[in-house]
Amino acid sequence: MRKKVVAANWKMYKTPAQAREFFRDFLPLVSGHTRDEVVVCPPFVDLAAAVDATQGSGVAIGGQDLYWKAEGAFTGETSAAMLLAVGCTHVIIGHSERRQCFAETDDTVNLKLKCALEAGLIPIVCVGEVLEEREAGLTEEVLRRQCLRAFHALSGKKAGTLIVAYEPVWAIGTGKTATPELAAEAHALIRSEAAKSLGQDLADNLRILYGGSVKPENAATLMAEPEIDGALVGGASLDPKSFAAIVKY
Ligand code: PEP
Repeated sequence: MRKKVVAANWKMYKTPAQAREFFRDFLPLVSGHTRDEVVVCPPFVDLAAAVDATQGSGVAIGGQDLYWKAEGAFTGETSAAMLLAVGCTHVIIGHSERRQCFAETDDTVNLKLKCALEAGLIPIVCVGEVLEEREAGLTEEVLRRQCLRAFHALSGKKAGTLIVAYEPVWAIGTGKTATPELAAEAHALIRSEAAKSLGQDLADNLRILYGGSVKPENAATLMAEPEIDGALVGGASLDPKSFAAIVKY
């Protein structure tokens, strides 16, 4: 039985003060929750405030990205050691907005994934097709390529904590949600790619989250699907009440 994960991606929203306000309202709403893993990934400048505000709450904090070098002249970047030092346990890698707006490639996703695992951060690797790819019947090919390249030169032993998020790009922030059946199909494909690259054991235990317009109204239906091991939530995670409703669906 795989443990479900509900993760929030705040993108470029909220200042440290707003992050504190969020947790002041959110934590009482989820106290005693039975969700196995709840993670919030705020912007970098909010991380210290978020870690401080969630001490002892069972809510984990993650970065939205990292750079694979230990340190150096890499203006604007953040290392795994920096994320760990501030109290992060998780990190999102390869979000479609990084791929589309900031030239993230399958190869940099691989470098970041290896770096996160080596450092002991729990990686949440995002994969997913854009609308044109789905309409052209290329979804399988795209997901296979993204997985194959992301998992390149990794062993199942090293990748034990890996989490993958299937995020069809046409469903992100659009209000369009994949049906549970369609998501399950993609998740099964990702799991079979993980088995090929990382071994059957890892694939059987791999948590694959669905992301793309998850809301309190559709969370229960999506997560009732056995292939869906949780959710990566953007817009609906910014409001304490709606994110709490998703956590407790
Ligand atoms: C995301 O950005 O990872 C996401 C799934 O966004 P939204 O929930 O707003 O579609």
